[in-house]
Amino acid sequence: MVHLPPTELPEIAFVGRSNAGKSTAINTLAQQKRLAFASKTPGRTQHINLFELGPKDAADALFADLPGYGYAAVNRDAKQRWQKVMADYLEVRRSLSGVVLMVDSRLGLTDLDQQLLDFVQRRVATGEVKLLVVLTKADKLNRKEADAALRQTQERLAAMATEESDVSITLFSALKKQGVADVAHILHQWAHAPRAAAALEAADAAQAPDGPLSPA
Ligand code: GDP
Repeated sequence: MVHLPPTELPEIAFVGRSNAGKSTAINTLAQQKRLAFASKTPGRTQHINLFELGPKDAADALFADLPGYGYAAVNRDAKQRWQKVMADYLEVRRSLSGVVLMVDSRLGLTDLDQQLLDFVQRRVATGEVKLLVVLTKADKLNRKEADAALRQTQERLAAMATEESDVSITLFSALKKQGVADVAHILHQWAHAPRAAAALEAADAAQAPDGPLSPA
């Protein structure tokens, strides 16, 4: 069994279907000055890698890179394992303060993305966990298609919005550097915003300390 270390640093999780452009986006964001990575990797399981952000030895936030999903050939056991890893992390991880969902802008939100959102929906509704949906590879869309992708995603996410929630959507292209500064700005704010007292209380009431992550 492998456990991620419990940590008080705010953690931002990156999730998305395989091939959505997640690794490219993380690499692009890591080159933004305000998000520069420290070299140390404080934790790793078979499925989840943590990266420290901020000055070396004084990191102020973590990025958690979660496994991509949606390969057609994946068998039932692997699917169940994936669901367990994602659910354990997204429902339980105490320090989780934001989720960045990478969605290929040409595909839009798929059923698997929706399943993933279901894991974290309750915590998004209370504002404990913020949500940013990044529509990737926007350079492949013309203006009209990009507007349509934004609108459709907005409509799908409307059901998750509450007075407390912080849900946003943005177009992104690592290739054309579109939206990169915006996303870096949002993540920098997430990393440095004091977590709302109400949200922390809700988290304390609902949860024991960090649950173990136990990939098979
Ligand atoms: P991951 O599986 O989600 O980590 O996806 P990758 O980052 O490996 O990207 C999957 C594919 O999409 C690769 O062929 C990338 O070159 C391509 N890709 C990623 N970002 C962009 C982008 O902004 N624009 C375009 N046109 N292609 C991209």
